[in-house]
Amino acid sequence: MGVSALLAALDEDESEVGQAVALLAAAGIENSDELGLGEGDRLLLELCRSVTGADLEIVAVCPACGQLSEAVVSPEAVPEATSRMVPLGKGGGLREPTYRDLRTLPANPEAALRQLLTRCVVGSPSRAPEPADLELVDDSLTGPIAIACTACGEPIAVDVDVQRAVLERLVRRAREIDQEVHLLASTYHWSLDEIEALGDERRRALAWLVAESR
Ligand SMILES: [Zn+2]
Repeated sequence: MGVSALLAALDEDESEVGQAVALLAAAGIENSDELGLGEGDRLLLELCRSVTGADLEIVAVCPACGQLSEAVVSPEAVPEATSRMVPLGKGGGLREPTYRDLRTLPANPEAALRQLLTRCVVGSPSRAPEPADLELVDDSLTGPIAIACTACGEPIAVDVDVQRAVLERLVRRAREIDQEVHLLASTYHWSLDEIEALGDERRRALAWLVAESR
């Protein structure tokens, strides 16, 4: 499947979770709805690489020297996904949420949290799940990661939400493709079908040439 057809999956849903599920499904992942968030985040990093040709980049200002520092988050650099479960007393436990667990939750944050906890209970545990239990089973790539400042070497803690960051990057890539198609259509007067048939690499290369010659 071409990149633009893949990115069209972004329009299938307005929610972040829905977009992640639709994208992964379009990329050929079966039952993407049932993926744990941790595994999903790692697959999104791989998708980011295959669609944009580069790993996810994060930029942060170094508090020590004030310089902008850049780091890439590659699928190889993050810890491997683990399937997590914590016991809740006896007879059962809490498992990591899947994408499906996060869909159609109540709008009220407190009610949503309660509902999510209920959905992730396995068996008939002797005690009810608490929000702190959820943190223990959370394997998603969210939270501060440490990067070394490229200017002064000081460590910088950067808050990253891989799901959001990858989706934002892919939305940007979809706009870039629109731009490329527009440049080619207005320059060569090719039809959209003809431009589509070029393939991603060639479309990108030709659009770059047009942009350069202006
Ligand atoms: Zn620095």
